[in-house]
Amino acid sequence: MFGFLRKKFDKTVIKSEIIIANIVVVVVKKDIKNLHLNVLPPDGRVRVSVPIRMDDDSVRLFIISKLQWIQKHVNKFREQPIDVPRRYITGESHYYKGEKYLLNIIEYDGKPHIAINNKKYIDFYVKQSAGLEQKKKIFSHWQREELIKELSIFFIKWQKIMGVTANECRIKQMKTKWGTCNIRARRIWINLELIKKPVYCLEYIVIHELAHLIEKNHNKKFVAIMDKFSPQWRSYKKELNNLLPSDN
Ligand SMILES: [Zn+2]
Repeated sequence: MFGFLRKKFDKTVIKSEIIIANIVVVVVKKDIKNLHLNVLPPDGRVRVSVPIRMDDDSVRLFIISKLQWIQKHVNKFREQPIDVPRRYITGESHYYKGEKYLLNIIEYDGKPHIAINNKKYIDFYVKQSAGLEQKKKIFSHWQREELIKELSIFFIKWQKIMGVTANECRIKQMKTKWGTCNIRARRIWINLELIKKPVYCLEYIVIHELAHLIEKNHNKKFVAIMDKFSPQWRSYKKELNNLLPSDN
């Protein structure tokens, strides 16, 4: 009955900034019980969400207590080559299933293909004449194929365990989400970027999106579903959120 009033209050947000040790921290006060700290892409912006009644001194103390963690993650962003445009040249690093690999460009006149070599290299067999766009296309096609292999295993496994069925699963490059679920169409979208992350993160996203076929909202019931099927989901979420903002 009072659902809509509650919702209105939920949306009360106060934003401010605190600077500590040369780091700008955006403080968001809203109707929540716990503090949430995030370092966000693309530049390692720091955001802390705090309960609406928490005073600035307490917020400041909290940030100071987490300063080491913040600095570590901010530095990670500064070092991260994630947004650097790839050139597809030998020696360039690329992430695959959570590990860093070095690219080997191998001149090859046959059909272009890519293979993992010795858990260390990504061997990219391609014509010498291939341009950047062409290489990019071949590489992302390979990433997609690799992601599909993993996804099919997880979908078969988790649809069975969770007792739900999606009509369709599709892959696309997304900037702000790891996955989405169109509940009415029972269609799940998975971010192509996930092929760069550890497979347990991919598995967690599959479980999360399938859970939406049971419960639409991120409410208590949803959390209970996640706790049941993926007891470690909070740590996977944290691992992923350090790299990309997401509602997952
Ligand atoms: Zn969700």
